[in-house]
Amino acid sequence: MPRTIAATPTPTAAAEAQAQPAPGPLLPGARPAWYEDALCAQTSPEFFFPEPGSSVSEAKRICSSCAGRAACLDYALTHDERFGVWGGLSEKERHALRRRNLGLTRTRP
Ligand code: SF4
Repeated sequence: MPRTIAATPTPTAAAEAQAQPAPGPLLPGARPAWYEDALCAQTSPEFFFPEPGSSVSEAKRICSSCAGRAACLDYALTHDERFGVWGGLSEKERHALRRRNLGLTRTRP
């Protein structure tokens, strides 16, 4: 899935995408090693920070081929990135994963 480490979350994913000075989820100077091979840096940030309700399938397709996917997802979870696609997971999928990891998922009686 910007500038100074994906900075403070913006009100909407669209605003986040427009605030991006360059493609990719991280700004120069805030880029970890795995970002060197990030495929998102070679594509449009709109794929990774789409308008609300828009498809993230293109971002996920790109992530599926990215060598840094696991590290990217770990980074997003560690830094509580709330917006955009990171490591092949959407915002909702990361939220669900966080809840599962914390044992907060509902189980049916
Ligand atoms: S996994 Fe996706 S969001 Fe993360 S660095 Fe790779 S292409 Fe970018």
